Amino acid sequence: MSAAEAVLPDLLAPTLVRVAKVTRETHDTFTLTTQAMPGSELPVFSPGQFSMLYNFGVGEIPISISGDPEQFDRIVYTIRSVGKVSHAVISHKAGDSIAMRGPLGTSVGP
Ligand SMILES: Cc1cc2nc3c(=O)[nH]c(=O)nc-3n(C[C@H](O)[C@H](O)[C@H](O)COP(=O)(O)OP(=O)(O)OC[C@H]3O[C@@H](n4cnc5c(N)ncnc54)[C@H](O)[C@@H]3O)c2cc1C
Repeated sequence: MSAAEAVLPDLLAPTLVRVAKVTRETHDTFTLTTQAMPGSELPVFSPGQFSMLYNFGVGEIPISISGDPEQFDRIVYTIRSVGKVSHAVISHKAGDSIAMRGPLGTSVGP
C-alpha cells in the first residue's frame, strides 16, 4: 500500500465534530466554529483547504476552512446560506454534532 493509499481512508471517512458556536456575520452569512468530540482530535489543515460538511438527512457540501491553522482546538468555516444544506448547517446550535470529511484540496502555501 502506498503512502497516499494509507491516508485516503481517513480523508474519505466522515468524522463527527461538535458545533461550538454559530455567529451571524451578515443577513445570509454565518461563521461556524467546530471542535473535536470528547476523546478525539481535529485533523490538521493548511490554508486553502476545504472540508466536506455533512448534515444528517439533508446532504453534504464543500466549505473552505476560514480559521487559523495554528489554532488546533477548532476548525472554522464561513458559510453563505444559499440552499438546503448550507441552511441546515448554519441552523445548528452549540452542542450539536455534524460530520466532516477532510481536509481536502491543496494549500496556498509557498
Ligand atoms: C471547494 C469549494 C469551497 C467552497 N467554500 C465555500 C465557503 O467557504 N463558504 C460558502 O458559503 N460556500 C462555499 N462553497 C460553495 C458551497 O459549497 C455551496 O454554496 C453549497 O454547496 C450550496 O449547497 P446548498 O445545498 O446549501 O444549496 P443548493 O440547494 O444546492 O442550492 C445551490 C444554489 O441553487 C439555488 N437554488 C436551489 N434550489 C433552487 C430552486 N428551486 N430554484 C432556483 N434556485 C435554486 C440556490 O439559491 C443556490 O444559489 C464552496 C464550494 C466549493 C466547491
